[in-house]
Amino acid sequence: MTTILSANNETLADSVDCLHDGGLVAFPTETVYGLGADARDDKAVARIFAAKDRPSFNPLIVHVANQAAAEGLGAFDARARNVVERFWPGPLSIVLPRLPTSGLSLLVSAGLETVALRAPAHPIARDLLYRFDGPIAAPSANRAGEVSPTQAVHVANSLGDRADLILDGGDCRVGLESTVLDLSGNRPEILRHGAVTRAQLVELLDTVEDASIPTNEGAPRSPGQISRHYATAIPIRINVTDPSSDEAFVAFGETNNESSATVLNLSPSGDLIEAASRLFTILRTLDRAEFAGIAVAPVPNSGIGCAINDRLRRAAAAHAD
Ligand code: AMP
Ligand code: MG
Repeated sequence: MTTILSANNETLADSVDCLHDGGLVAFPTETVYGLGADARDDKAVARIFAAKDRPSFNPLIVHVANQAAAEGLGAFDARARNVVERFWPGPLSIVLPRLPTSGLSLLVSAGLETVALRAPAHPIARDLLYRFDGPIAAPSANRAGEVSPTQAVHVANSLGDRADLILDGGDCRVGLESTVLDLSGNRPEILRHGAVTRAQLVELLDTVEDASIPTNEGAPRSPGQISRHYATAIPIRINVTDPSSDEAFVAFGETNNESSATVLNLSPSGDLIEAASRLFTILRTLDRAEFAGIAVAPVPNSGIGCAINDRLRRAAAAHAD
């Protein structure tokens, strides 16, 4: 099991090194403990999904030190500046269109064009973010389907040795997830209720729709944004072993397929974490009208392969009618 470390100069420096090396650092925020990775590092972000055993790719909240850092990642407008000036640092995440220059891993947005941003208030989270000086993607530091951890020992019990480092910050003050406010469209929408209330947001924004619905995890989730997923413009076929010559082929593992126009490999060595890290980038690269479609080789349905197959099935289903 990963050792729990009290946060000090040395362990924070180690945490920053760990993040730079593509590792996973569990750290306290005022809401719950997060499982953090460098949000620009595809493989590190893929490791988060693997560590949590997530059956699908949900978009992750990107943690930043402050508004200036966030402005380099999302397209701020007057409404976003208004709420951020009032509630950051704090338990509010805002969803904005992702800037083309953000440098964020596409996996962080799980295929969406938006990104959720938050500057947490917890002193240890802030210290880590300022020292790292980059965006940290962090969902709650627990396995999928379990309640969110509010103590370092909960993280250790849930994740075993799947986090490289666990920083101890005592009990989380809020103990409830951040409010997620979607400002990417014309009307502000609450995607998830949390510590910042709708009434507080209405004071600043006049109207705020409630777009949250309960999920079986107990956490409300957006009906619209989240069920909308990345669909390719050209048709996609899955579990294909014999692509046709006018299809682009997405291979997995060793392949000697030379019949298709273009072959990109999710992971020549058959590594599912590498495959997850490359999935969205490869689909986007091949989504071009010059191909009749995209054919994808079978991907093993174990570990993070389940989330890969879930996403591929949805992308394929989008063309089924
Ligand atoms: P967690 O994984 O516990 O940190 O929860 C993240 C929450 O933020 C989930 O409810 C996500 O649906 C929501 N979220 C993150 N990114 C986005 C996004 N780009 N668009 C909509 N919702 C998002
Ligand atoms: Mg959670």
